[in-house]
Amino acid sequence: MTNSELKKYNRSQVYQIIYEHRTIAKSSITSELHLSFPTISQLITELEENGLVTKNGFFESTGGRKPIVFSCISDARIALGIELIKEHFQITAIDLYGEILYEEVYHIPFENKESFFQQFGKIVGQFIISHNIPAEKILGIGIALQGLVSFDKTAITYGAILKNNDLTIDRFKKYLDYPIMLIHDSEAAATDTLWNFSNIKDALFLSLSRNIGGALIINRQIHWGAFYPSGLFEHMTLIPNGAACYCGKKGCLEAYCSVKNLLEGLSPTLDLFFAHLREGEQLHQIRWNQFLLNLSIAIDNLQMALNCDVILGGHLAPYLNQEDLNTLILLVTKDSAFNQGRPAIHLSKKSCIARGAALYQIRQFIDSV
Ligand SMILES: [Zn+2]
Repeated sequence: MTNSELKKYNRSQVYQIIYEHRTIAKSSITSELHLSFPTISQLITELEENGLVTKNGFFESTGGRKPIVFSCISDARIALGIELIKEHFQITAIDLYGEILYEEVYHIPFENKESFFQQFGKIVGQFIISHNIPAEKILGIGIALQGLVSFDKTAITYGAILKNNDLTIDRFKKYLDYPIMLIHDSEAAATDTLWNFSNIKDALFLSLSRNIGGALIINRQIHWGAFYPSGLFEHMTLIPNGAACYCGKKGCLEAYCSVKNLLEGLSPTLDLFFAHLREGEQLHQIRWNQFLLNLSIAIDNLQMALNCDVILGGHLAPYLNQEDLNTLILLVTKDSAFNQGRPAIHLSKKSCIARGAALYQIRQFIDSV
């Protein structure tokens, strides 16, 4: 390692310690990194000059001078995440701690046409201007969409829902001059959930939205399979020769436990479905019971294979109450001989796919300072 590489490495270490602690004194950084006081002082000065770290008052004195509080400037950089689904898209701007600064939903349906990408670029540009986000602060834009994405996050490899098999980042870059990455929506949802569940190590994440997605989390990393990323749990066969799935098979989990399937022919929105369900409408009750039963079969099978916690997220999760969760757990464990020490089922009620898409840029930045 050359001297300048070593200096960059140490500077990065100092930044990451301040970032993790949020507020820290110079002496604590010195003792964590085992570097000299003058070296730490020099590295902090450089981070201050780069606009990444600031002095933030004083800690209480433990004898002698009060130590200066150092902290990261949370909005020194900003990342944009966009959830792009068939009916609308949502833009979310977050700071370096993942806090949502601005958020807007645009009810413009996705179309795989030039005019859509042009309008999309214009709206994102207006979002940036209207919130006075300086262009130089923007790390990039993560676009979460329904479709499996290549390993380098530049192209869709399978996009039957949005009919976007030919989609690459170039279509967006033509109208948006920022680093852009495409992210499978369930992977973005899992990333967001991981940010919220700091104590989860291994888990299976199921995103229950208009369509289902999933991601296997191992050691707080999203597992990348042989080709298709983060698992295709939604296309496991739940009912042999059952209902048709958009993938071409019959009886997939997707055909029974997606929000689309839950609402079909009964309610146009989740708000209305659950309003009727909680009022005791019989048809809604029957549909919901069947939905929970189907979901319980999938969860039991997945836990038998993976033996890990399950986190339920996506647009449906905020509507589930404790009674629903208890019913689901009862169905999962019913008649099973393997309930002792069975991993838990959690609800992730606050998952924000757009934020999950933006977190990739934040992670990259924090690791690269
Ligand atoms: Zn399928």
